[in-house]
Amino acid sequence: MSEMGELSGKVALVTGSSRGIGAGMVRALNQHGARCVVNYVVDAAGRNKADAEKVAAELRDPIVLQADVSDDAQVAAMMDRVRAAAGGLDILVNNAGILRDKTMKKMAEDEWDAVLRVNLSGAFHCMRHAQPILRDDGRIVNLSSVSGVMGFFGQANYSASKAGLLGLTRTAAREFAKQRITVNAIAPGFVDTEMTRDMPEDVKRKFLEQIPIGRMGQVDDIVNAMLFLCSPRSSYITGQVIHVNGGFFMG
Ligand code: NDP
Repeated sequence: MSEMGELSGKVALVTGSSRGIGAGMVRALNQHGARCVVNYVVDAAGRNKADAEKVAAELRDPIVLQADVSDDAQVAAMMDRVRAAAGGLDILVNNAGILRDKTMKKMAEDEWDAVLRVNLSGAFHCMRHAQPILRDDGRIVNLSSVSGVMGFFGQANYSASKAGLLGLTRTAAREFAKQRITVNAIAPGFVDTEMTRDMPEDVKRKFLEQIPIGRMGQVDDIVNAMLFLCSPRSSYITGQVIHVNGGFFMG
C-alpha cells in the first residue's frame, strides 16, 4: 500500500498507541519514515507507561507522551509538547478507545459518559488542539467501528460514540480542507486485540460465521488502510469511511 520512506520528515501522533492497533500503527508509520509520538494514559500500576516505553524502544527517535484524551487540558498540554519536541505535526490518528458493554437497561450513567468521553470527546479534543500545529497537506484518521454503523446489542454507548465520530469526521474534513488536510475514518470489524480477546467463544463463533472472508481481522489489516490514508496517494480522499471488516458489513 505504501512505499518505504514515503513518510520521512513527517511527524505522526497515534493516541492510545501503547498496545493493540495503535502500537501496530506507530511501528508501521515509523517503518515508513515518520517520527512517531507514542501516547498512553497513566494507570495506577504503571502498566501503560511500561507498555508505551516498550513500543517506543523499537522506534527511531520516538517521543512518548502521557495524556488522557478525555481530558481537554491534558490534550492541549500534549500538543504543546509535540510542538516543542518536533516543531509541528503531520499525521494525527485518533485511535484511543474503550468498551463498557451493557444493555441500556443495566448501563450506569458513568458507563455511558466514560465511553463517550474517550471515544468521541477524545477525538474532538485531539483535533482541535492539533489544528494549530498541523502542517499543510496533513492527515487525520479516526478509528470508528462497524458497531457505529450497525449498532450492536449491549453497545449503546460504544455504538453511539463510534457513529458520532463519523459525523465529527465529516465536519472536520470540511473545516481542515483549506490546509489540504484530509480527515477520514476507518471502521474496523472484529480485530484480534485485547479488546476482543475477552469475547465469549460462542459470540466469536457466531460473528465468524457472518464474515465472508472467514477470519477475524488482524492489526495489519487496519494498519494498511491507515497507511494508505496517510500516504500522498490519498490526497483527494476526505470525509470518507473505509470499512475494513472482511465483508461482515457492506456499505
Ligand atoms: P485496545 O483496547 O487494545 O487498545 C486501546 C488503546 O486505547 C490502548 O492503548 C489504551 O491505552 C488507549 N486508551 C484507552 N483510554 C485512553 C485514554 N483515555 N487516553 C488515551 N489512550 C487511551 O483496543 P484496539 O487496539 O483493539 O482498538 C483500537 C481502536 O480501534 C479503538 O478505538 C477501538 O474502538 C477501535 N476498534 C477496534 C476493534 C477491534 O475489534 N479490536 C473493532 C472496531 C474498532 P492504555 O493501554 O494506556 O490503557
